[in-house]
Amino acid sequence: MQQIMTMDRSLCLDNSMRMEFDARSENEGLARMAVAAFMTPLDPTVGELSDVKTAVSEAVTNAILHGYENCEGLVVLQCGLHGDVLCVEIIDEGVGIADIEQAMQPMFTSKPELNRSGMGFSFMEAFMDDVEVYSQPGLGTTVRMFKKCGTTPWVEAGE
Ligand code: ATP
Ligand code: MG
Repeated sequence: MQQIMTMDRSLCLDNSMRMEFDARSENEGLARMAVAAFMTPLDPTVGELSDVKTAVSEAVTNAILHGYENCEGLVVLQCGLHGDVLCVEIIDEGVGIADIEQAMQPMFTSKPELNRSGMGFSFMEAFMDDVEVYSQPGLGTTVRMFKKCGTTPWVEAGE
């Protein structure tokens, strides 16, 4: 599977993984759990785990629903750890996005008839530290997200 953008191996990642799965909604849970398991060494908080799983779900759902428009295709999930930073990439070779800026606007959806709320990218941006989107019409889309994990200072009750 050719990708328009792949994780930069020159980052000297401490650990990395790559998996590929059919663009079917039942694989969304698989992607969430795989990333959650991969980030365990960072000792993430419950909140950080939940944030990452939500962001991964949104990106994978987009790849299936918008990228492949619920037709056949493969989704690639790549993860890397660099120190206490998790990097996740969700890659599809679907229809691509013509106007990325517009697509990332809160409440923009190209599928209002399916009752989509247009909040997927907003959730990814809210739950992750950084979100990068690379896309070309007809070639596909790569969503790359970063989150620093496991370093939230413990706050004593009453402080
Ligand atoms: P929601 O996520 O709230 O159900 P949504 O999926 O339409 O609604 P976003 O996730 O914010 O909202 O995505 C905004 C728009 O960006 C989509 O409507 C779609 O047009 C486009 N888009 C997002 N991801 C992809 C993708 N992988 N391939 C093609 N188009 C995409
Ligand atoms: Mg979405």
